[in-house]
Amino acid sequence: MNKLIIEVRMNETARKDANPNVPWTPDEIVADAVACAEAGAAIVHFHGRNADGSETSDPEVYRQVVSGIRAKSDVLIHPTLGQFFGGATPDQRMAHIKTLAEEGLAPDMAPLDTGSNNIDMFDWPAGEFIGQGAVYVNTGANLRYMAGRMREWGIRPQLCSWSIPNLRLAGAFLAAGLVPAPAFVTLVLSGGAGIMGHPATEAGLRAYLDNMPGKAMQWSVLCGGQEVFDLLPMIVREGGHVSAGLGDCPYASLGQPTNADIVRAIARKVRDMGREIATPEEARAMLGAEPTKHMAVA
Ligand code: ZN
Repeated sequence: MNKLIIEVRMNETARKDANPNVPWTPDEIVADAVACAEAGAAIVHFHGRNADGSETSDPEVYRQVVSGIRAKSDVLIHPTLGQFFGGATPDQRMAHIKTLAEEGLAPDMAPLDTGSNNIDMFDWPAGEFIGQGAVYVNTGANLRYMAGRMREWGIRPQLCSWSIPNLRLAGAFLAAGLVPAPAFVTLVLSGGAGIMGHPATEAGLRAYLDNMPGKAMQWSVLCGGQEVFDLLPMIVREGGHVSAGLGDCPYASLGQPTNADIVRAIARKVRDMGREIATPEEARAMLGAEPTKHMAVA
């Protein structure tokens, strides 16, 4: 069976309250990324954060992180896009990526969430919504534009599906030659208070797998608000990959782990189930085909 790619989702918007090991500053992110690569991660995904933990799209922050990681590791680098909800143009969302590309620091991957989605949180025990909610807007036109810019800069999109319609759009992008094959698709499952993705259960994942639009996809499971461990047997069996880390939940079953501890725990469990872990070089070979026009979607 193919080797399993571990992507570490280092920080997202996580605070340090539940686990102080969430990396925020460029130095923290670089050190954490290198430790995660040594523990078995092939891809590192991060959000630029200020010293107080607030999010930043400052290109200088991203420059420090990418150059810092590149100096020490061959791990694939996957920064987020600018975190603007509503109203931002694609160029604004990709401004820091463009700066990196122009300076010879193009990251290996950037996200393309193939659809617009509500981001709603619900406190089930209390029966109350948390916050006002937001809409993550990704119009088809904007996605096509961003896919084109990424192609220009030699950056592979990581397609993120929050639902089956998102996955169908990813399939259409692949069929249209807008993204290179094989596409790398993240399948979003939501546990805990998150109600924006499929349920974080085998049934939730099964629904995605029963609706995969083609074989020219490598898929990875993202489990927000809940630890991914219970889903590992199915992921291993079905040939998928794993995207997980402190950005998704505190992983309290491991105490107060670092991201590298989480990567190590996943790698150990996966190996025990009979699959090997892909190195960054092997992940590149699995994902890194040149953009292919008119790739047949079988
Ligand atoms: Zn992210």
